[in-house]
Amino acid sequence: MDIVCTPEEQKLLTQIGSAAQKLNVPCYLIGGFVRDKIIGRNTKDADIVCVGDGIALAHEVAALFQPKLKVNFFKNFGTAQIKLSNGFEVEFVGARKESYREHSRKPEVEIGTLQDDQNRRDFTINAMAISLNKDDFGKLVDPFNGLHDLEHKILRTPLDPDITFSDDPLRMMRGIRFATQLDFHLFPETFEAIKRNKHRLKIVSQERITDELNKIMNAPIPSIGFDLLFRTELLQEFFPALADLAGTEMIEGKGHKDNFYHTLQVLDNVAARSNDLWLRWAALLHDIGKPATKRFEPGTGWTFHGHDSVGERMTIKLFRQLRLPQNEKMKYVAKLVLLHLRPISLSKEDITDSAMRRLLFDAGDDIDDLMVLCESDITSKNKQKVKRFLANFEIVKERLKEVEEKDKIRNWQPPIDGAEIMEIFNLTPSREVGVIKTAVREAILDGHIANSYDAAYTFMLEKAAELGLKPAEGQKSKVKSQNPDTTDDGQLTTDN
Ligand code: ATP
Repeated sequence: MDIVCTPEEQKLLTQIGSAAQKLNVPCYLIGGFVRDKIIGRNTKDADIVCVGDGIALAHEVAALFQPKLKVNFFKNFGTAQIKLSNGFEVEFVGARKESYREHSRKPEVEIGTLQDDQNRRDFTINAMAISLNKDDFGKLVDPFNGLHDLEHKILRTPLDPDITFSDDPLRMMRGIRFATQLDFHLFPETFEAIKRNKHRLKIVSQERITDELNKIMNAPIPSIGFDLLFRTELLQEFFPALADLAGTEMIEGKGHKDNFYHTLQVLDNVAARSNDLWLRWAALLHDIGKPATKRFEPGTGWTFHGHDSVGERMTIKLFRQLRLPQNEKMKYVAKLVLLHLRPISLSKEDITDSAMRRLLFDAGDDIDDLMVLCESDITSKNKQKVKRFLANFEIVKERLKEVEEKDKIRNWQPPIDGAEIMEIFNLTPSREVGVIKTAVREAILDGHIANSYDAAYTFMLEKAAELGLKPAEGQKSKVKSQNPDTTDDGQLTTDN
C-alpha cells in the first residue's frame, strides 16, 4: 500500500518495524493514521498494534532515541504512549479481543490476534492495518474492505452494527463526528442501527458525549453532524432543548420558520467566518429560548418575546448539564445570546448615538463577535430581503465605528463605581447603591451629563438626595470644578 509519509515518519515506522522484529512480535499501523494518510488528511498521531506485549514494544522503540524517550504506560489497559520531540504521538497496544457487559462500555479484554483486534474497531475505515514487518512491510490488511468505503465516503461498522453500537454506544457519536469531519455518509444500515440503539447512550459519560459534540462544532460544516444527530434521534437523548427548536406550526394561515434548521444555517454561517468554538456555541444557542416563549397573537402572528433573556438563562443551565466550562467562556456565550437581537434593532432609521453607546458598553470587547453572529443570523430565502438587511447592517457597523472613535465606550467604566458610592454614603451593598450607580452610568451614556468625575459626582449627589441620602460625616466633596457643565473633558456627543 502506498501512503505518502514524511521522511521523519518513514524513519519512525522503519524503526518501529525493526524494534518489533527484535522482540519477535508482528506489528501494524492501524486506525486513524492509515485512514487519514490514504485520504491525504493531516495526522498528528499514530496507533500501533502488535501481536504481543505493546508496552514492551514501546520501551524498545523509545530506547532507539537519543536521549531515550519517556514511555507513558497503563499496565491495566496494556497500552503505552511515546511523544516525539516534534509533538508527534505514537500509541502502542497488544492485539486484543473484547467482550462487553450490558451496563458498561468498558470491555473484558483478552489477548487476541490481529483479526480479533480489527473486529473490535468501530468503523471499516478505522479497521485497516498496514504491516510494519520485514517480510511484507507496507502491505494493507483490510478484512472489511475499508478501502472501498473510504473511496465511496461510507461509514459502516465491521460487524453487526446493533452489536457494535450496543457494546460501546460512544461509537454512535464517533460515527456522526467522522461523517461531519470527513463529509462521509452513514451507511443506511448503520444509520438505522444508531436510531435503534439511541437509548444506549445513557451509559456514556456526558464528558465524552460533549467531547465528540465539540469536535462536530469545530468541523468546517457543523450542520452535517447536527442534522444526523437529530434524524437518528440521538440529539433528543442528550440535548432535548436543541431538538425542541425543530418543526413549524400554522395558525390562521400563518406559519413560522423551523428554528432548528435556521439555527443550523446560522451555525454554518458563523463557522464560515470564524474558527472560535465559543462563538459557534453562541450561534447554536442564540434562539434556544424560542420554544419557551413562542406565542400566537391573533392579528400579529407568531412572536417569541423575551427569547433572548430566556436563552441567556438556558445557556447557563445547559453549560452545566453538558459539562461545558463554568467560566468566562460560559459568560461570553450567555452574553452573546442575550445581545443577539440588539444590533439588528439598530438598523432602523433615527437611531440615536446613545443607543449605539449602550450596545458598545454592554458588548464591550465582544462587539465584533456579536456583529459576526448577527450577520450570520440573516438567513431569509428571499435574496432581496437578505441584501437589504446586509446593507442596513453595514450602516450600523459604520455608525458603531464612528461612535466608538468619538466616545471610546468599548472598555469604558463610569467614573464612579459602587465601592465609592458605598464609601461616600456609608452604605452596605444594597438596592440604593445599584440605583445610583445605574443612574450615573445611564446619564453619561445618554449624553445628559459630561463623562467626567466632577459631573458624575454632582449628579450622584442629586440622585442620592432624591433617595433621601446625604454624604456621610467627614466625606468631603472631591469635585475639582464647581460647575461641571463647563468642563469639557470627555463630554460624550449629544444625541442627534
Ligand atoms: P481522531 O484522531 O481524528 O479522533 P482516530 O480514528 O485516530 O481519529 P482515536 O480516538 O485516536 O481516533 O482512535 C484510534 C483508533 O482506535 C480508531 O481509528 C479506531 O480504530 C479505534 N477506536 C477508538 N475508539 C474506539 C471505540 N470507541 N470503539 C472502537 N474502536 C475505537
